[in-house]
Amino acid sequence: MHNDDRLLGVLQPSQNSPAKSQKYWLNDGTLIVQVDENAYKVHGGLLDRLSPRFSALSRTHKNNHETPYVVIPNDVGVTGNDFEALLEHLYHDIPLASDPSFTRVASVLRASSELDFSSISALARRKLLDIFPKRLEDLVQYPDAPDDALSLAVQYDVFPIQKALYYRVATHLHLDDDDPDSNQTATSANDASTVSTTPPSDTIARLSPELIRKSKNLLDDLLAHFTPVLFTVATAHHMACTDVFAETWMPLVIQPALENNGLCKPIETLQTIIDLDWKAHGLCEDCVRDKREEWRGEQEDIWKKMNTWLGLQNEAE
Ligand SMILES: [Zn+2]
Repeated sequence: MHNDDRLLGVLQPSQNSPAKSQKYWLNDGTLIVQVDENAYKVHGGLLDRLSPRFSALSRTHKNNHETPYVVIPNDVGVTGNDFEALLEHLYHDIPLASDPSFTRVASVLRASSELDFSSISALARRKLLDIFPKRLEDLVQYPDAPDDALSLAVQYDVFPIQKALYYRVATHLHLDDDDPDSNQTATSANDASTVSTTPPSDTIARLSPELIRKSKNLLDDLLAHFTPVLFTVATAHHMACTDVFAETWMPLVIQPALENNGLCKPIETLQTIIDLDWKAHGLCEDCVRDKREEWRGEQEDIWKKMNTWLGLQNEAE
């Protein structure tokens, strides 16, 4: 222990000495692992057995010290938090099964994927798939941090959840703030101003330019597709029912949609239309049933078209 203390101080003279982990400085540990500015004394054999890449990282014996020392290079992209989450899983202190929160799953996925702990990486992917919606019907369970989740799902090729995350990012985050191309149009177009009224958030900073571009393009495609749908008054099989739509479409559908940014959220807006009590407004039961089926079909149509708009046709589902 005494010698390990000294070792930490002299190994990286150009940097600050790494801090010994409070949780993972195990007395019978056989390997010191430095990640960021943190050092962990753990069982090298356990980690080596699970990851050929980890076992191949070169170990040093500075000052003839008995405990080998390995540094995870910064460009691997694993933080101390990520590595600690991996250790918490490996040592069964906090296995993924007991805390499948996004933050933990994301940390374990990054650490296990970048360091090639393939069995744990596969488990973390399965957990990530469990957290986020994959189908149109599940779209109502909205996740927190869809931008972080989207970045992660794209980086690690977790395809089935990407579409819902793109939809969430495109329709609910404010992506227009720092794009010089869109500033000119945002001030003139009413539609655009409704999606660009809030100041830039750290959302923008967290998404790659490529993901921002793809999400903006998706929103453009959604708007182009849905605007005529929303502004075209519905018709029915019976004249009387068509008259109901003629009277109510503006106050019940268009106006609330404009007030609630509904043009930019077509699937939710269609759901609102489906959920309206049309019978109470004078529609006959047959028409209520037929129209609801038609609007559900619209939702499915949008959901399917998103594959093409996002270029996901060979990857999603
Ligand atoms: Zn009718």
